[in-house]
Amino acid sequence: MKKTRNTRQRGVILDVLRESHEHPTAEMIYREARRALPNISLGTVYRNLNFLRDQGTVREIRPSEGGSSRFDGVDAPHAHFHCTHCNALLDIPLPTALESVRFEKEERISAVSLVDLHVIGSCSGCEVAAAT
Ligand SMILES: [Zn+2]
Ligand SMILES: [Zn+2]
Repeated sequence: MKKTRNTRQRGVILDVLRESHEHPTAEMIYREARRALPNISLGTVYRNLNFLRDQGTVREIRPSEGGSSRFDGVDAPHAHFHCTHCNALLDIPLPTALESVRFEKEERISAVSLVDLHVIGSCSGCEVAAAT
């Protein structure tokens, strides 16, 4: 019984995450998940996100300037662009050269599971707003 409930909660959280392209925070996921599961708590959302992150199903992105972690349900390798003005976090293609990098000459590394590229700057929307 308990297991079924946990699985359902996890499924809803994952659905919310995969339908969003904004890399929501745990609080944003919580607000969306409550539509399907009115009794879910923020603590449950955090617990499930941590579980899914440890499992490798979702990625947690910690903003370089502090603030809440953002979550990502996209499986395919990609990089992130973070606009420091509006706080948008956009998926951008990971340069193919980085996708295949393995650091063979780096003896301290034995295996690479993910290359995480985080690009910081201003998005085109904010650039336009700043110019006018
Ligand atoms: Zn922006
Ligand atoms: Zn992403």
